[in-house]
Amino acid sequence: MKTELIALYGMNCRICAGYIGYTTTGKKRKMRCIGFKPTDKSCAHLKNYCKNKTINKIEYCYQCSDFPCKQLQKLDNKYRKRYNMSMIENLEYIRDNGMSDFLKQQQKKYLCPECDRVIYVNNSKCYSCGTIIK
Ligand SMILES: [Zn+2]
Repeated sequence: MKTELIALYGMNCRICAGYIGYTTTGKKRKMRCIGFKPTDKSCAHLKNYCKNKTINKIEYCYQCSDFPCKQLQKLDNKYRKRYNMSMIENLEYIRDNGMSDFLKQQQKKYLCPECDRVIYVNNSKCYSCGTIIK
């Protein structure tokens, strides 16, 4: 778990299937996503999404005067329903507890109990050993 892989909008790119080169349905992607920060613009989840264009002015969405904006709430809703994770919660956690605590929490939450590698949030599957987390 790395700070560089925590996206502006609260997604931990490390646990996104796109990061290791899969789609949300488990197929191989043509292009592997390298994470929000290194890519900066082309994150599939954030397309045209920040109306304030604050993207290059702030480090995380909680620093924005609009936080949590409608677009973020929409995305957050989708992820809460589908994947049981909340970007808004992540952002509030970072704001209130700091990044290093957040990374520790993520590590606890997303490590495979079988092989100790990262579980991807999009389908709760460990791509290293195949374990499905319920
Ligand atoms: Zn595993």
